[in-house]
Amino acid sequence: MPALILDGTKIAQQIRSEVAAEVKAMAAAGIRPGLAVVLVGHNPASEIYVRGKVKACEEVGIYSEKLTPPDSASTSELLAVIDDLNRRDQIDGILVQLPLPRHVDSKKVLLSVDPAKDVDGFHPMNVGFLSTQRPGLVPCTPAGVLEILQRSNIPISGREAVVVGRSDIVGKPAAMLLINANATVTVCHSKTHDLPAVCRRADILVAAIGRAGMITRDFVKPGAAVIDVGMNSVTNPAEFQRFFAGNTKREETFRKRGSTLIGDVHPEVAQVAGALTPVPGGVGPLTIAMLMFNTVKAAKMRRGSRVPELSRA
Ligand code: NDP
Repeated sequence: MPALILDGTKIAQQIRSEVAAEVKAMAAAGIRPGLAVVLVGHNPASEIYVRGKVKACEEVGIYSEKLTPPDSASTSELLAVIDDLNRRDQIDGILVQLPLPRHVDSKKVLLSVDPAKDVDGFHPMNVGFLSTQRPGLVPCTPAGVLEILQRSNIPISGREAVVVGRSDIVGKPAAMLLINANATVTVCHSKTHDLPAVCRRADILVAAIGRAGMITRDFVKPGAAVIDVGMNSVTNPAEFQRFFAGNTKREETFRKRGSTLIGDVHPEVAQVAGALTPVPGGVGPLTIAMLMFNTVKAAKMRRGSRVPELSRA
């Protein structure tokens, strides 16, 4: 039986409606959560991502502000921008769109964000909160992975979970969230021996690698839930054929655009997995939904008792 396809777009929409309801209730108490997005220079991909984030804010009723320092902005100029946002009460969340220009000390800039406003969850203080199970802000993409599993009623507690990828923004926090949800977790990376055998142990397999279609059917235990975080653009027609030969819908898009998006999981995995997130339309939409969720959460944590008691956020 082919895998159940986990519809990330639908789950993200549910979360966005819940967030919109929270924002409405907060408005009744005279509070409007605010997000500032700092976009340095003109990176076309970053501009698209930021546009999506600002639009999502409008949809759920969050106040948003886009700051656009030039490519030439120095580390100290960016630190001054963040310092100003840290001080402003109207701003609950600060997001620095990555990558920053090469001459900028990215770590220093990210470290300067007030941990209470760090809606990306990258600050070491929030990393520590996550690993010690204290309330804090959790990175959006891994938080989205957990939402997909939980809202699809995929059991986590006591299950074997394997995360391929150990980056600070996806792999490690995803592993930590799975540990906190009582899974038995193995984290793999480029030095892992016999990766297919390790992956085959997984009831839940999370792929966050950045390699198109690397996870083939021989990495997957029949019936496993496979969460594909990867987002890779395929432009080479031969490579396209290797993954999508016979898929007429994809062929049409590829012909029109000259590229298509593929995850880290090979499409053939749908024949063995029990459940699978598609790319696009799987984990991707959750990232922005969780950013909205985090902005409201930051507003609640910062403003404490002034916020009406409404939900688990
Ligand atoms: P990184 O490049 O930071 O990390 C990749 C990880 O994969 C590393 O830990 C690396 O190991 C591991 N890896 C690379 N090659 C292999 C291999 N052959 N075998 C085993 N492990 C390997 O990537 P990110 O974590 O930032 O992103 C991962 C993917 O997720 C990318 O495709 C990215 O585009 C996507 N992404 C999607 C998001 C979304 O919204 N859906 C958001 C963020 C990312 P090592 O540490 O040893 O180098």
